Amino acid sequence: MDDYDKLLDRARSQVPEDAFKKSGERFQVPAVQLIVQGNRSIWQNFQEIITVLNRPGKEVLKFVSGQLGTAGSIEGGNALFNGKFTTEQAAEVLNRYIESYVTCPVCTRPDTDIIKESQAYYLQCSACGARTSIRPV
Ligand SMILES: [Zn+2]
Repeated sequence: MDDYDKLLDRARSQVPEDAFKKSGERFQVPAVQLIVQGNRSIWQNFQEIITVLNRPGKEVLKFVSGQLGTAGSIEGGNALFNGKFTTEQAAEVLNRYIESYVTCPVCTRPDTDIIKESQAYYLQCSACGARTSIRPV
């Protein structure tokens, strides 16, 4: 055991054990908050949601913009999209993203990371260890 492991052990002993047992039940994605202003739609809690998803904002933005068929940008914690969209539309696209790029298709848990290996992308699940090939966003 090297120093890093010891350090990790010590760190883990100082937090409740529960914190390291992620489970599907605790995957609480906040409801999408979206308002229309003029010809733009403002997704107000975008930052909050991508934090829960543990995904880079740019990647989620790219997916959402593509699905909505418009251009988008991130400003502060908001995502802005050209055009008028409903909360339901945004929520539906978000669900599609979660199904494709967050939830493990083997155990259905959200404890995953996207990894890139020799030009291919995989969804690596830390709950069951499954590695699933995915298409880049
Ligand atoms: Zn899994």
